[in-house]
Amino acid sequence: MGKYRIAVLPGDGIGKEVAKGAVEVLKAIGTRFDHHFEFVYGLIGGEAIDREGTPLPDETLQMCNESDAVLLGAVGGPKWDHNPPHLRPERGLLKIRKEMNLFANLRPVKFYDSLADSSPLKAEVVKDADLLIVRELTGGLYFGKPSERRIESGEEVVVDTLYYKREEMKRIIKTAFELAQKRNRKVTSVDKANVLESSRMWREIAEEVAKEFPDVELEHMLVDNAAMQLIRNPKQFDVLVTENMFGDILSDEASVLTGSLGMLPSASLSISGPSLYEPIHGSAPDIAGQNKANPLAMILSSAMMLRLSFGLHQEADAIEKAVQQVLAAGYRTADVAKNGKHVVSTTQMVEEIKARILDDS
Ligand code: ATP
Ligand code: MG
Repeated sequence: MGKYRIAVLPGDGIGKEVAKGAVEVLKAIGTRFDHHFEFVYGLIGGEAIDREGTPLPDETLQMCNESDAVLLGAVGGPKWDHNPPHLRPERGLLKIRKEMNLFANLRPVKFYDSLADSSPLKAEVVKDADLLIVRELTGGLYFGKPSERRIESGEEVVVDTLYYKREEMKRIIKTAFELAQKRNRKVTSVDKANVLESSRMWREIAEEVAKEFPDVELEHMLVDNAAMQLIRNPKQFDVLVTENMFGDILSDEASVLTGSLGMLPSASLSISGPSLYEPIHGSAPDIAGQNKANPLAMILSSAMMLRLSFGLHQEADAIEKAVQQVLAAGYRTADVAKNGKHVVSTTQMVEEIKARILDDS
C-alpha cells in the first residue's frame, strides 16, 4: 500500500467539474489497489484573483511543492479577460510552471477507434496513431533576452533571442529517450538544423544522447516537414521531441488529429520537485457549470500522474482500460457525441469509469 499526497488545483470553469471527477476516479483506484491518496486543495486562476488578489497565491505554490504531484483543472474565463496583465488567470499558470521548474511538457495523442468520426483526418490515416510530443518548456525563444524593440540608425527594429544552455537541451532530449524506451523505441528529434545554430547544437546533442540508448531508434526531422508529416502520416511517430516554440506549435497541431480536445491529457515534468498534470483544454466558459464537460482528459491526466510520478503502472493501465471500455460501450459526453446518441453528463461519465475500475477487482 502506498501513500501519496496530491495537490488539486481545480481552477475555473469546467476545471472544477473535471478535477472533481478525477479525484473520484483516483479514490476508486485507491480502493481497488489499496493505496491511500491524500488530496489537498489550492486556489489558482480567476478564483484566486477574486479571493486572494493574485492568480497564484504563495500558499498554493507552497502546498504544491510539499505534495507528491499536482493535478490542475483549467484557469480563465470572460470575467477576467479585461483585467490588467498581472491579474489575468493565465499568469498563474505561467508562474507555476516557472516556479516549479516544469521543464518538459508531455502530450500523448492517442486515437480511439470509437471516436473515429471526430477526427478531421480520414480514419485510415489516423487509425492506430499513438504518439507522444515532448516539448521543452522553460527555455528558447520565449525566455531569451533581449526581447525588445529598438531604434537602429533611425529605423525601428525588433529582436527576440533564442537561448539555450547545452544542459537544458540535453535533459529534455534524454527525457524523450527514456520515455521512448517504455513505448515503441523511436525518437523523432525535430529541429531546423539547415538554418539555425541552436538546431545544429540540438542535433549534435541528440546524436550524443542516442549513444546512451542503443535500443532506441533516433531520426531527425526538420520542423516544416514534421508539421506536414503529422497530418499525412501520424502513425509513423512514436516520441517527438523538440524545443519550446516548435513544440508549442506541433503539440497543438497534433492535439487535433484525434479530434477531441476533451480527451487529451498532459504532463509537465519538474527538474527535481513534483510534476504537474492537466488536461490540454481550457476552462470552456461556454459550457461551464452545466455538467456537460468531458472529464476524460483530466482523468487520463491523473493516469499519467500515477505512471510517471508514482510508478503505479497497473493502476494507470486500469484507468486507461476503463476509458476504452466506456467509449467502446458507446458512452459519450456531448463534445464527442456526433449523432446525439448515448449522451451522458460529466458526472455520469465519471460514474461509468468508476464502476469499471471497481468491477474489475
Ligand atoms: P485556453 O483556455 O487554453 O485559451 P480556449 O479558450 O481556446 O482555451 P477551451 O476553453 O479549451 O478553449 O474551449 C474550446 C472549446 O472546446 C469550447 O467550445 C469548449 O466548450 C470546448 N471544450 C474544451 N474542453 C472541453 C471538455 N473537456 N469537454 C467538452 N468540451 C470542451
Ligand atoms: Mg479558454
